[in-house]
Amino acid sequence: MNIHEFQAKELFVEYNIPTTEGLVIRSLSEIPIALERFPEKAVIKAQIHAGGRGKGTIVGTNLPGVYLARSAEDTARYIQQTLGGILVTNQTGSQGKRIRALYLCDVVEVEHEYYLSVQIDRNTAKPMITVSRSGGVEIEVNAGNLNSISVDLESNIHTFQIRALARALELERRMVPSFIELVSNLCRLFHEKDATLIEINPLSLTSEGALIALDAKVILDDNALYRHPELEALRDMAEDDPLEECASRFGMNYVAAEGDIACVVNGAGLAMATMDMITFYGGKAANFLDLGSRADPIQVREALRIVQENPNTRGIFVNIFGGIAQCDVIAEGILEQCPQTMPVVVRLQGASAERGQQLLREGTPSVILENDLDQAVKTIVSKVKER
Ligand code: GDP
Ligand code: MN
Repeated sequence: MNIHEFQAKELFVEYNIPTTEGLVIRSLSEIPIALERFPEKAVIKAQIHAGGRGKGTIVGTNLPGVYLARSAEDTARYIQQTLGGILVTNQTGSQGKRIRALYLCDVVEVEHEYYLSVQIDRNTAKPMITVSRSGGVEIEVNAGNLNSISVDLESNIHTFQIRALARALELERRMVPSFIELVSNLCRLFHEKDATLIEINPLSLTSEGALIALDAKVILDDNALYRHPELEALRDMAEDDPLEECASRFGMNYVAAEGDIACVVNGAGLAMATMDMITFYGGKAANFLDLGSRADPIQVREALRIVQENPNTRGIFVNIFGGIAQCDVIAEGILEQCPQTMPVVVRLQGASAERGQQLLREGTPSVILENDLDQAVKTIVSKVKER
């Protein structure tokens, strides 16, 4: 589960991690409150579940998603022009994300920007701390300067490990004690709240010589949320794709993509391969959808309903490899929710494939049945292009 920057910073405060605090506003009627708290300068930050805001642009303006306002008038103007608008960054996709809240913070004079993160490393199956001397908005460009160490948080991080990170950052000796405390607290937060990622970019060195988290990204482990009812309350439904929610209620995995060919597939690997094939033959997948290995008719019906609710869907490709899931059972689900308004290509292979194909041939003659995966993908790509 993703949370907003201002929520992540509240967790930082709880764990004594130095950060900038501020004020969240959600409506233009709160401008007077904002100006009372920030009568001169303020950093104003769009609260969306995506990064890259500093380099992003708000549609219809040339304003970024992180803005340094120099006066009360400047602050009021920025809020008026951006609250409720759409912010497009390199992480949002071209459709962008709506700005439902703005976060105003005190301005900090920055000497240097570092990068610091803790995340689960899949290779070692352990938390990994990563630092870079060149943080800030250009981190992708400087990805070569990363230093990582693997840590065992069950037995607490050792001071010598943090000292090694401090050396990699070329921190001055006098900064090291506060850095040790900051990293220890960060690890405690990561461990106690069951996070899968905490990223501070930038971790800034101020002109007063203090280290402070200017940005905060926290991802919490969905599977551990039952242990943290107080964190569940941080969920922002408006940021979640309602179709994703709906799919998860039926035990399926759905992730929207940018194309127009909807995919309904059993198995995550086959689902990804199917998306790759669609791209290979010149099309674009509208989504990732994994029915799971069981794939019963209700799931298939709901999957077809969900992909048709995506306004970008202009054709559907159902790709099923029957095993535990029987193709004839799946065909029953297809018959219940098969659209007549757009091309539908179905490939059924494996257990009970022939019986499934026969049911579809009799029940919905408009469905195009293909046995060969290459041919099936070519057909749906060309049918959608014809429309
Ligand atoms: P992101 O672009 O979504 O990662 O948003 P950030 O919160 O990281 O803000 C983008 C950039 O704005 C940062 O890398 C900083 O360089 C700058 N920034 C943010 N807050 C402050 C601040 O209080 N003072 C200064 N000088 N720069 C800031
Ligand atoms: Mn950042």
